[in-house]
Amino acid sequence: MDRISWNEYFMAQSRLLSFRSTCTRLAVGATIVRDKRIIAGGYNGSIAGGDHCIDEGCYVIDNHCVRTIHAEMNALLQCAKFGVPASGADIYVTHFPCLQCCKAIIQAGIKTVFYAMDYKNHPYAIELFNKAGVKVEQVASLPITIGGNDEEKQKLVESLIGLLKENGLDETTAAYFDDKSKSLFHT
Ligand SMILES: [Zn+2]
Ligand SMILES: [Zn+2]
Repeated sequence: MDRISWNEYFMAQSRLLSFRSTCTRLAVGATIVRDKRIIAGGYNGSIAGGDHCIDEGCYVIDNHCVRTIHAEMNALLQCAKFGVPASGADIYVTHFPCLQCCKAIIQAGIKTVFYAMDYKNHPYAIELFNKAGVKVEQVASLPITIGGNDEEKQKLVESLIGLLKENGLDETTAAYFDDKSKSLFHT
């Protein structure tokens, strides 16, 4: 069994949170971490009790959905709401933060931003992070998917193994791939 790194673990947490997103435009997750402990998390969504983009459609002004609070902001606001200091903590975000979130992250005293995917990385955001001495690092994200059509995938692999057998693949090798695919797919 491979042991995952702390970076992979916290980014996986952000990735999981992103699956809670209610905006159809982009699903983002953010996790705030201090001393290897998760202190807050957020995803992009409406205010509590508000309409969801997934139900009502996005509320778009100037090509931006104004209904949602960004994941990073939600995570920082969770700190504010429950009185948890964000100063000196790190944040793991699935996507490079927008300019507004970048400023909030700096102002809240976050010291490192770990992000998985590039997303319109604004040069001014990079400049501000540099000036504020906030470290920005891109880290790999584990391949986490939800609702991944495992049944369909397994059937496809099964039919490929069948085809290979017809074309002379020996039983032992075929059985190995068969077992392996069954252990990989959660059907
Ligand atoms: Zn939206
Ligand atoms: Zn943002």
